[in-house]
Amino acid sequence: MHLYGTQQINELGHLTIGGVDTIELAKQYGTPLFVYDTALIRKRSRGFIDTFEQLGVKAQVAYASKAFACVAAYQLAAQENLSLDVVSGGELYTAIKAGFPADRIHFHGNNKSIAELELAFETGIGCIVVDNFYEISLIKEIAQQKTQKMKILLRVTPGVEAHTHDFITTGQADSKFGFDLNNGQADEAFKQVVNDEHIELLGLHCHIGSQIFETEGFSLAAGKVMQKMGAWKEQHGFVAQVLNLGGGFGIRYTEEDKPLEPHEYVADMIRTVQDESKKLNLAMPEIWIEPGRSLVGDAGTSLYTIGSQKTVPNVRDYIAVDGGMSDNIRPALYDAKYEAIIANKANDPKTSTYTVAGKLCESGDKLIIDASLQNAHTGDILAMFCTGAYGYSMASNYNRVPRPAVVFVENGEHQLAIKRESYEDLVVNDLPLTLTKGE
Ligand SMILES: *Cc1c(COP(=O)(O)O)cnc(C)c1O
Repeated sequence: MHLYGTQQINELGHLTIGGVDTIELAKQYGTPLFVYDTALIRKRSRGFIDTFEQLGVKAQVAYASKAFACVAAYQLAAQENLSLDVVSGGELYTAIKAGFPADRIHFHGNNKSIAELELAFETGIGCIVVDNFYEISLIKEIAQQKTQKMKILLRVTPGVEAHTHDFITTGQADSKFGFDLNNGQADEAFKQVVNDEHIELLGLHCHIGSQIFETEGFSLAAGKVMQKMGAWKEQHGFVAQVLNLGGGFGIRYTEEDKPLEPHEYVADMIRTVQDESKKLNLAMPEIWIEPGRSLVGDAGTSLYTIGSQKTVPNVRDYIAVDGGMSDNIRPALYDAKYEAIIANKANDPKTSTYTVAGKLCESGDKLIIDASLQNAHTGDILAMFCTGAYGYSMASNYNRVPRPAVVFVENGEHQLAIKRESYEDLVVNDLPLTLTKGE
């Protein structure tokens, strides 16, 4: 059995995280419950930051916060000297509310609204990662109105295909994101921004996909983007200060996943940028990266209470839990795989096989197909591992199920980071019917 971060099994045979008994957490806070091992988030963050420091390379490690966003998570990121990627006005608002230093916030997205861009100017964020021509025109307009200058990166698609699931790949030429590096769009975008008095072009950004386990893709993309920087220096005398190589560093969900350590992911790309800089006679740019999943993914564990059980003779045994696709849509959405244990019997051998079903009204609401588990009974607590990224952040109120609570644990202490939604919360925006019934 693979345990993550500070996870251990105590003398009662219970799974503990951060020195706290998960069965006690389930009792105190209820289930479903997300438990975050904040020491592991700190360790992953430092793994990236320290590598750049040790190699003497100027860098920003920006937490791509769409993986898991809330006030406490943003404050943790600030404590660890991370920068922050936001992709919406809502994430930006949350970051500002959390007191996150605005000058280390980067704003992403392929269809930022006027209101969102205005908020970016008003809060004084570090830079906007510009995605398309419409956005360039909006930024110019807003900057002029506000007589304010904005730093930007241009997002480009280098045409490097990451080896990962098709649904979650964004680096191909056929992408909704960014300016194509190879068909003239990136050059046109460069021309539109480089001499604008309200825009300071810091450099280029690319993001080649998600859950990537090899370093070649990052190096290949870095090389291509560097070549464009070289061409712009030669033709226009433009010197890029920043090369942002995105995120997508893979993590272990099941034994099939073989992730690299943070320093391994980063070392190769740094070498490529150093080599290319020399070859192209460019000053070494700052390297920015944007890990999301790899900072929080394996630090999150979902706790559920097992309720009903069903046997389909000669087919499979089901156990049903008190959550499902409303708190983790990844298995239903793209067939994501997870492992789990019965947290109150963690020392028992895994002698049974169950399909873990959610409680939502969809046949596809299954969290794990054919999970190898300890013998399960109603009332047991199921701990599902590695749910820290794109779990809570994609949660919904489907079936009017309140979203779970989120707890942070560290050094034997625990704190609520997000309260469980109540039934009152569910109707807070609902209004009574005022239209009258016709004849
Ligand atoms: C989603 C995203 C990331 C983070 O991806 P992970 O797979 O969570 O590391 C980084 N950069 C951009 C632009 C993204 O859209």
